[in-house]
Amino acid sequence: MKKVALVFVLAVIIPSLVLAWLAVRSLRDQQFALERQQSLLYQGVADALARDANNLLANVQHEFGQQVETELADHKVRIVANSFDDRLRTNWPLAEVGFVVTTEGKILCPSPVSSNLEARTFRTANIKFLCNAESAEVYWNAGKNTGNTFSKLNGGQSQTYPGQAGQVTDGSQTALGQGGQSSFNSPDTKNNFKSQAMRNVVPQQQILPQSKDNNDSQLYSKVAASEAEFRQLIGDSSEGTMARFLENKLNVLVWYRSPSDPQMIFGAQLSLPRLKEDLKKLVTQLDPALRADIVAALLDDTGKPVARSLETFQTNWKRPFIATEVGESLPHWEIAVYLLNPAKLTQSAQALKLTLGLLIGVLLLAIAVGSWLIVTDLSRQLTLARQKTDFVSNVSHELKTPLTSIRMFSELLAEGRVADPTKQHSYLNIITAETARLTRLINNVLDFSRMERGEKKYNMQKCDLVGLVHEIIETYRPHLESNGFKFIYDSPGSPIHVSGDCDALAQVIVNLLSNAEKYSNDKKEIEVQLERQSEPLPYAEVRVLDRGMGVPSGSEEKIFEQFYRAHDSLSSGIQGSGLGLTLARQIAQAHGGDVRYQARKDSGSCFVLRLPTPEISP
Ligand code: ADP
Repeated sequence: MKKVALVFVLAVIIPSLVLAWLAVRSLRDQQFALERQQSLLYQGVADALARDANNLLANVQHEFGQQVETELADHKVRIVANSFDDRLRTNWPLAEVGFVVTTEGKILCPSPVSSNLEARTFRTANIKFLCNAESAEVYWNAGKNTGNTFSKLNGGQSQTYPGQAGQVTDGSQTALGQGGQSSFNSPDTKNNFKSQAMRNVVPQQQILPQSKDNNDSQLYSKVAASEAEFRQLIGDSSEGTMARFLENKLNVLVWYRSPSDPQMIFGAQLSLPRLKEDLKKLVTQLDPALRADIVAALLDDTGKPVARSLETFQTNWKRPFIATEVGESLPHWEIAVYLLNPAKLTQSAQALKLTLGLLIGVLLLAIAVGSWLIVTDLSRQLTLARQKTDFVSNVSHELKTPLTSIRMFSELLAEGRVADPTKQHSYLNIITAETARLTRLINNVLDFSRMERGEKKYNMQKCDLVGLVHEIIETYRPHLESNGFKFIYDSPGSPIHVSGDCDALAQVIVNLLSNAEKYSNDKKEIEVQLERQSEPLPYAEVRVLDRGMGVPSGSEEKIFEQFYRAHDSLSSGIQGSGLGLTLARQIAQAHGGDVRYQARKDSGSCFVLRLPTPEISP
């Protein structure tokens, strides 16, 4: 039986645990999918902003070309070339310095004696690079090309620059306006490859568990510098943009070659503050629908914000949710997206996790409680079944013993083998007592089954307890005294009336007396007390006391349960059905009273029948 219960419990617990594990796993997968979806969405936003920034720079480059053409249309090339710096700064606010170099490597502007300090500083810092006297580390991006041998290359194809002694091999290049840097390969010139730098900004999404390769690639910038001379870099393109860091300061240069004089290269170093102003407008124009959830920011090469969609927003700028590099025109500048409420992403998942956890907890608790109930019920049923089996064998035995003695003594008398009248009298007494015992037992069994079926009826009437107890005692006294018992009873005299079924109440008292006789050892002394009490309500108490073995501690209440026997017939040799006290209590309770056990100071038991004694009209 216990095995069956164990199998049942395991059959419930194991599938439940597997189901709970599957639910937790699917929840985790869903959370990953949600985060991935969100990161893709915001990646799109960052990429679009990076594309806009590149478009803006492409426009700047285009504007510069137009500016040069306007100057050339009005004046002769030489005049324009000599005063290009002044003219450009006057007419085009985005320029910080204007410069002109020839393809042979001669710098025409700015002049070493220029009145503009920035122009002189620019000339000193860039002259060697612009005049092809030294290579420099440059981030570059060629735009529209005029030459017929220059083409956009992919995947490390080679490119020959006309008019050059050596061959320069170029990797693929990313055209301006192409958007976020995801495909730039460093130029593979024999003298100019530079390894990638660590990114200033590490997007949060890259910290999430991903493949190792992917993670590594995100830690490094995809924008790499190439080391080359100016002439090498521009090749035969007609215009372009390049950026270089001088003393850790970013310089963005645009250049243009007019078809009217391709030997002359006009260029400008852009004013970074002006450029930032223009770039700011892009970020601040973020889609209003997204403003409730994210803040977009343009970060410079040091990871500091140049512009942000929400001015008051502050955070650790180096830990955006998503970031995209703008490209070679603004190397190591990034468009970064920050979540306004980072917890929001995990909040619903957390709530779901909590609910699931609680449900699993409740489920396990329900299983545990259910299992406990099943096991206790099973063991209760097992005990009851065992008690019933014991009951059947006990009752059979109890029936057999008096029947044997009745048969034996009646046969002796019938056959006239006992001549002595005293003996005859004694045998008849035994037959009467055994018959009474049988009657009592059968009454108990019948009453119990009636009570179980709810069919027990009581004939309630005015009943004098004093008279009832006296009658029972007088019937019982000869039997007890002949068995060596000292029997004590003091009658209170005046009647004590209760409302009840006299036969049922007599059955209770007889059961208590019979137990006192059965469970007395050598100390054969039985006392019956009957008294009236008035506190708290008027009631009568019949006490049956003995000096026997008493009820073992722990069984004081159990002895009132059906079939329960504190003194097992095997060990004690005392026969019984385990129903006497059950019936006594049920009858007493049906009369508004109770039967209780009290241990006596020295050995012995005291059973108390308490019955209410309301004022009964005569
Ligand atoms: P039984 O037929 O076994 O006597 P009862 O319901 O009358 O059944 O009693 C239940 C149990 O209570 C008995 O088996 C016995 O262990 C205990 N008991 C009852 N009366 C006494 C008593 N006077 N002294 C000691 N134990 C008693």
